[in-house]
Amino acid sequence: MRVSMNEEIKRGELLYSGKAKELYLTNNPLLCIQRFSNRATAFNGQKKSEIDNKGYYNNAISAFLLQYLEKQGVSTHFVGLLNETEMLVRRVEIIPIEVVVRNIAAGSLCTRLGLKEGAKMEQPVIEWYYKSDALGDPLINDDHIASLDLAKEWELKEMRKLALKVNDILVPLFRTLDLVLVDYKLECGRSGHGILIADEISPDTCRIWDASSGQKLDKDRFRQDLGDVEAAYREVYDRLAEMFGEGEKNAR
Ligand code: UDP
Repeated sequence: MRVSMNEEIKRGELLYSGKAKELYLTNNPLLCIQRFSNRATAFNGQKKSEIDNKGYYNNAISAFLLQYLEKQGVSTHFVGLLNETEMLVRRVEIIPIEVVVRNIAAGSLCTRLGLKEGAKMEQPVIEWYYKSDALGDPLINDDHIASLDLAKEWELKEMRKLALKVNDILVPLFRTLDLVLVDYKLECGRSGHGILIADEISPDTCRIWDASSGQKLDKDRFRQDLGDVEAAYREVYDRLAEMFGEGEKNAR
């Protein structure tokens, strides 16, 4: 999966440092390096820790999933894996809306609507959240988005279409791995080629349950102090590595 490039990619300045990742410019103005760290945060940064090898697993898992989406015709920012914790991505302008897709009730949806964790949604539920740490990423609707000019109407339509397509691809993929894709967050970016899926898709941004045991294999293990966080991320990685090729599977 490693990219062989004719041109040498040189790391440039740090463009952005987030809670768990960094983004660097490169000598190519169209490309960035996305670096996954072991930092873990929850509850809008109030809870902080380090999880061994998390950067490695999230980099590899995101690469598997973004590349799989590309193969199924979804445009993403993924270009190639560079090393254990870094991937090369297209430079995009991130739309300041978190797109949450829900198949099963969990987390804030249960609190907001009084649903029981595990209740199946009759159809995928798409929600928009305003990306703002200062405001704690509030839930917003189409009218808020239009009023604040966070995205154009056609962009929002495209984001919804993309999110549903991603869901149609990832839910069956996870099912074949005996995993349930409960919910997840996507970020979209504007590029010269339209809207792309950007950021990461990993146990940091998804709720993933083991289909047989119901065990949580995602960041909820950290949020809820369930223990074995690293082992849960490794489990997701191992199942994907099994499916996408032993060549990518490195013992940790
Ligand atoms: N999520 C995320 N980043 C955020 C908020 C949510 O990746 O800033 C993911 C979260 O991991 C879950 C889904 O989006 O898979 C839905 O999260 P929810 O709204 O239930 O919020 P939470 O309970 O995580 O606060």
